[in-house]
Amino acid sequence: MVGSLNEEEIKWPAWLQPLLQTRFFVQCKVHANSNKSECNMYCLDCMNGAICSTCLASHKEHKVIQIRRSSYHDVIRVSEIQKIVDITGVQTYVINSAKIVFLNERPQPRHGKGVTNTCQVCERTLLDSFTFCSLGCKIIGTSKKVQKQKKLSEEDGSYDEESNSDRNKNKIQSFTPSTPPPYRIAKRRKGIPRRAPLGGSLIEYLY
Ligand SMILES: [Zn+2]
Ligand SMILES: [Zn+2]
Ligand SMILES: [Zn+2]
Repeated sequence: MVGSLNEEEIKWPAWLQPLLQTRFFVQCKVHANSNKSECNMYCLDCMNGAICSTCLASHKEHKVIQIRRSSYHDVIRVSEIQKIVDITGVQTYVINSAKIVFLNERPQPRHGKGVTNTCQVCERTLLDSFTFCSLGCKIIGTSKKVQKQKKLSEEDGSYDEESNSDRNKNKIQSFTPSTPPPYRIAKRRKGIPRRAPLGGSLIEYLY
C-alpha cells in the first residue's frame, strides 16, 4: 500500500483511514482506574486514537463519533456516519433497532450456495443492492478509480500550478542571484512598476 495515502486523502476525509485502523473497546491508558474507561469514541479533529468517556472532557468543541460493537466487530450508526462520509454502496444492517455499517471487512470463510452478490473487495455475501460490506472495503474498492483521476488531473490542472510557482522563483533568482532572502527582494521590487509611465513619457518625448 505504498503511496496510496495521498489518493485516499483526495476522496476521503483525513480522519477516516486512521479511524479504521484504530482498535476500540480497549482500556483507556490515561483513565485506567475509571470504571467507564472503555474506549469507544473517536475524535475527528485530533485523530489521536480511541478515547473513553472521561477523555471526552478534553474534546468538548470537537467532532467526536461513537463506535459500537456487533459480534466483536466495530460498527457505526448510519445516522452518525452518513452526515460526514458518503456510504453509498456499503451494506447497512439493523442492530438493536439502529441502522449501522461495519468499519472493516469481516472475513467470511465459505459462501452459501446460490450467492449472487458479494463485496467487490473481500467477497463477503451481500444483499443485491450493495457493493461493499464495510467502509474499509469501499475505500479499497474505490481507490483504483481515484488513482486514474489523479493521473488525469496531474496532466492538466494541478501540475501547471506547481510549475508556475517554480517559474516565479526562478525569475526572482535570476534578477538578483547573489542576494539570499527572496522575500525581501520581492517586496522592494513592488516600487518598480512606477518606471512604466516614466518609460512611456520617455518614448513620447522621443517621438
Ligand atoms: Zn480516557
Ligand atoms: Zn479532539
Ligand atoms: Zn468487504
